Amino acid sequence: MKTIESTLLSAFTKISACFTTRYGGVSQKPFSNANLAFHVGDNPIDVLTNHDLLAHRLGYDRQSLIHMRQIHSDRITIIDETYTFDTPPECDALITDRPNIPLMVMSADCTPILLYDPVHQAIGAVHAGRAGALNEIVPKTIESMRDTFGSMPDEIYTVLGPSISGCCYEINSAIAEETTSKGYPEALRYENEKIFLDVNTILLTQLNRLGMKNVEVIEECTSCLNDRYFSYRADQQRTGRIAGVIILR
Ligand SMILES: [Zn+2]
Repeated sequence: MKTIESTLLSAFTKISACFTTRYGGVSQKPFSNANLAFHVGDNPIDVLTNHDLLAHRLGYDRQSLIHMRQIHSDRITIIDETYTFDTPPECDALITDRPNIPLMVMSADCTPILLYDPVHQAIGAVHAGRAGALNEIVPKTIESMRDTFGSMPDEIYTVLGPSISGCCYEINSAIAEETTSKGYPEALRYENEKIFLDVNTILLTQLNRLGMKNVEVIEECTSCLNDRYFSYRADQQRTGRIAGVIILR
């Protein structure tokens, strides 16, 4: 499984974290070849094999991994030993302070976000597309980490993984109006009567308002780099999912 690492998170020895790419799995087209999502129409045996390849690469037991049934919400689940690989919770953010429970967020254009608080040894994985970002899923997850583990925003390290950028994400005027009314006009770009949205700009504004300084953005547009990443838009919706994974050791 070919993965990319975060510079920010690779400095820490008590966690492992990465983002996956299209490469290094066994799935066939249009899921070729490292798709990790079961709900997209791929052969489930191939998806399981891809999960095993990733688990082997990062050194965890596949059944200990928690992924999500993602619904573009602001719902957060606090993970303990009662959850398993086969019963993913319906939500868009996972947090835990338990070691050896890998947390996974999947995406194909939306932003996969990994969080680490080295002071309280707590981690998070968040899925934020336009809807999640405008519903403040990331600030709400950080608030939940504070309430649950005592994590302060300036103690949390944040990485925004590969996602569709403002170069490629065209939106309609209703979404543009919603984005402006919610306070993020800087995330919009107007060009030749078209409107483009940069979701990471919304996320960075929110992190900045919380006073978070340890933030890394993986500057890779999943649509521009469609040969490297699954892209819901560039692939006309029928495609696989990459993932962000983080584990407390
Ligand atoms: Zn692009």
